[in-house]
Amino acid sequence: MAQYDFLVVGSGLFGAVFAHEAAARGKRVLVVEKRPHTGGNIYCQEVHGIPVHQYGAHIFHTSNKQVWDYVGALCPFNRYTNSPVASYRGKCYSLPFNMNTFYQLWGTATPAEAQAKLDEQRARVHLDGEPRNLEEQALRLVGPDIYEALIRGYTEKQWGRPCRELPAFIINRLPLRMIYDNNYFNDAYQGIPIGGYNRLIEPLLDGIEVRLETDYLAHKAALDALADKVVYTGTTDAYFDYVHGALEYRSLRFAHETLDVPNAQGVAVVNYTDSSPAYTRVIEHKHFEITNADLLAAPKTVLTREYPASWSPGLEPYYPVNNAENQALLQKYLALQAQETRVIFGGRLAEYKYYDMDKVIASALAAVEKEFGA
Ligand code: FAD
Ligand code: UDP
Repeated sequence: MAQYDFLVVGSGLFGAVFAHEAAARGKRVLVVEKRPHTGGNIYCQEVHGIPVHQYGAHIFHTSNKQVWDYVGALCPFNRYTNSPVASYRGKCYSLPFNMNTFYQLWGTATPAEAQAKLDEQRARVHLDGEPRNLEEQALRLVGPDIYEALIRGYTEKQWGRPCRELPAFIINRLPLRMIYDNNYFNDAYQGIPIGGYNRLIEPLLDGIEVRLETDYLAHKAALDALADKVVYTGTTDAYFDYVHGALEYRSLRFAHETLDVPNAQGVAVVNYTDSSPAYTRVIEHKHFEITNADLLAAPKTVLTREYPASWSPGLEPYYPVNNAENQALLQKYLALQAQETRVIFGGRLAEYKYYDMDKVIASALAAVEKEFGA
């Protein structure tokens, strides 16, 4: 008999939820993680008492009540509402696109005035048929003024290619509202674990053996021998040794900086939407902790600049590039996954999906149900 029932590769949300649920059912679980910490991309490092979102701003938002109740039972959440500010050529604009943004751009005060302006903007765009790319989608949605000021520069920095070569669906994530409402998300539930995301990961992995700085693929045969089944949350192309070629990712570089001021930008997230500077976002982490008045007043603050980067082996693969070529390649890897009966593949990397946290948890809970029954 193997020493463990499950070897879970990766301690991000997918791996941690699966490990937790398996252990709760009496299974023997070992988690291996190649990074020096657990949590994957939601990991927070405490700096001057501030939970720093080490891999970029993470805001939990969902309309899935089961998932919201699940995370709420693990740790308390605050009622943070994400309202990022866009900075373009020295001026600030509200996001997502709403009555505040229209007023700032065009001076339109009522929904009727804003609608007339949007209609006029859209009329300037002459496009037939379905939008073929992100530029066409954006121009139809909001017209040229907003596209130029708030979308084009940001998107081209983020994805490293012209908007005309990007799929339209990327922009579908951004709401358009005819009300004065800067809430970035439409979901029913939204918040941040009080004290940061380690508060969510710790109870999930409580009592479970975790080996850090252990790369599964570098020790695959030895680790496989330890368990009956494997739950794999790393990149799928790497698992199959790139037999069909490499899937494309987009990477990021995070530059963290501590300042001796209590409040540097007055909001957690500022998006820089012009093509320069090279970073897309600046995060001021203490603003996520909205219920901690002492921390907000404390004399230091931590900022993180987020620089998009092209991906190459060795860099973290943060975003899957969901274009037609990569989707076709993915299908080949999914066919190989189906043959691996001893392995459960899951999470953002193994499924190659641009998943938010709630979707990853839902996917892990579905895998748990498939494995153990309801
Ligand atoms: P990961 O967190 O990537 O975990 C996978 C783990 O597996 C990693 O720890 C990795 O080190 C480990 N691993 C990989 N290969 C191996 C190996 N060979 N051996 C051992 N270990 C291995 N979602 C939201 O809901 N709201 C947000 O605001 C939000 N913001 C985001 C901002 C950024 C910049 C990014 C990149 C993502 C954001 N997300 C957000 C998405 C969120 O990070 C993911 O949905 C979630 O963290 C994915 O969890 P996961 O377990 O699938 O993957
Ligand atoms: N986007 C934009 N301007 C902004 C913010 C976002 O044009 O100020 C576009 C951009 O194409 C981005 C997409 O909207 O890739 C999705 O943005 P979101 O903030 O949801 O992305 P994430 O947090 O996942 O990077």
